[in-house]
Amino acid sequence: MPVNIVQLRKLCYDQVVRCNRCGFCLPNCPIYKVRMTESASPRGRNAITRAVIEGRLDWSPEIEKSIFTCLGCGACTAACFPGLKTKDVVFSDRECLVDQGLYPRIADRLVKNLEEHHNITDEENEERGEWRELLKDIPDHAFEKDRAEAVYFVGCVASFFPMAQKIPVNMAKIMGKSGMDFAILAGEEWCCGYPLIGAGMKDKMNALIEHNLEKVKATGAGRLIFTCPSCYHVWKTLYRPEAELLSSSELLIRLITENRIRLKEIRATVTYHDPCDLGRVSGVYEPPRQVLKAIPGLRFVELPSNRQLATCCGGGGNLEMVDPELSGKVADMKIEEILQTGADMVVSSCQQCLRTIATRARRRNVNLVVKDLTDLVAEAMEG
Ligand code: SF4
Ligand code: SF4
Repeated sequence: MPVNIVQLRKLCYDQVVRCNRCGFCLPNCPIYKVRMTESASPRGRNAITRAVIEGRLDWSPEIEKSIFTCLGCGACTAACFPGLKTKDVVFSDRECLVDQGLYPRIADRLVKNLEEHHNITDEENEERGEWRELLKDIPDHAFEKDRAEAVYFVGCVASFFPMAQKIPVNMAKIMGKSGMDFAILAGEEWCCGYPLIGAGMKDKMNALIEHNLEKVKATGAGRLIFTCPSCYHVWKTLYRPEAELLSSSELLIRLITENRIRLKEIRATVTYHDPCDLGRVSGVYEPPRQVLKAIPGLRFVELPSNRQLATCCGGGGNLEMVDPELSGKVADMKIEEILQTGADMVVSSCQQCLRTIATRARRRNVNLVVKDLTDLVAEAMEG
């Protein structure tokens, strides 16, 4: 059921009344830093929500713009003494706005694609495994198995967007080399549903959740592997299967520690960008750093904003879909920060961060190497 004002009061009122308007969140909010207007700030979004609940303000297209241009990055909460979860407030607002018919119409295309193709693109879902064409000497339908110890849930972006397809390619190489018994669901994997949360349409997720849970259960797998932090987060919090859930970095450091993969030298200075859904949302900060530090010859430098205070790449909260220019301006700030470190490359552990940063750097002719952790580990493995 969509959220109405009564439910919004229940969900958010005790949050928004605790905003003391101190403004400590402002320097942490990437959207405020670009727009520099109160309605684009966490404080402003909380004030809007409070005013709507108290009946002093009506939903309007202006409010829609403010609420749908939040990245959902959670950086504001990290700077807020009362610990207000503005991201959760904003996502509840979105559900309420959708109920009122006030939402970016581009979301209708997302819903249509999910209903017709079960993925975020307009491609047939049978194409989900096409990244396997980038691997040499493998049989048709490779990694599709009826039973397996682990299932690798690839996610829509890494399955369909060419720039991110090297992530499953390298993950499959790493898992294969380490002797893991893993399967992919290929055309039977459906979108995890996370984009619907950002769109304020969480109530449309049920069919996706039921389908994916059933398909994974049928394999008998006791472990699920994710290279997408958003899939990982949704599986952990909404799906909650009886299986161990591991992000790629958690699996990689385990395989390295158990000597199941050996890494050769890479001479480079590398910095790490914390993806919001992996770091702030899921608390996975150290495993990717441990993996980087395990690569011989590699020099690791931190970004000025890291861990809880990391700045979003600009690709969160469906912003790329709703306002690509604003998303690009946030990516510009991220790129400037990366360049300040003097690193040869930035590594992340998320297909969306990879796409957002690399696409913007290319568009602005910035010479920046952007890699996923799995790319770097596969390279180190091969020497
Ligand atoms: S979640 Fe991110 S973009 Fe949204 S208000 Fe907080 S800091 Fe700003
Ligand atoms: S830091 Fe927290 S309490 Fe202060 S203005 Fe921002 S949301 Fe309100």
